[in-house]
Amino acid sequence: MRHKKYLFLINLYLDKELDSKKEYLLREHLKVCKFCREYLEEIKKEKFLLNNLEFPSVSQDFDTKLFKALFQKTKESLYGLEFKIILGVFWSLVFLLFLKISLFLSFFKIDPLFLIDNLDFLEFLLTGGEL
Ligand SMILES: [Zn+2]
Repeated sequence: MRHKKYLFLINLYLDKELDSKKEYLLREHLKVCKFCREYLEEIKKEKFLLNNLEFPSVSQDFDTKLFKALFQKTKESLYGLEFKIILGVFWSLVFLLFLKISLFLSFFKIDPLFLIDNLDFLEFLLTGGEL
């Protein structure tokens, strides 16, 4: 791991943050160390590529449009979630209602067909016994 120190120095060197004494030490090491030389070349290449990246040209209001679109998308997904929760609660209540009716019917051994013929009685059951 004796290279570790030099790899760090190489990064400082490329950022031009190395004092002359350390730069001298690094240069001396690079003369004898193939590993660090290769690392330096690799980092140089990467730096060159990064510095020469071409950004696609975008319209001036690109930022505004992007943030609007993101905001809209977030809003939609939040409303979507709310809607799903409400739908879930609704169907849970419907399920509980049917469960209540079927339990009630089975408790009193009432034939469901009897209810279809006597809707007043069904209403009586659904309102919890208030007619
Ligand atoms: Zn080295």
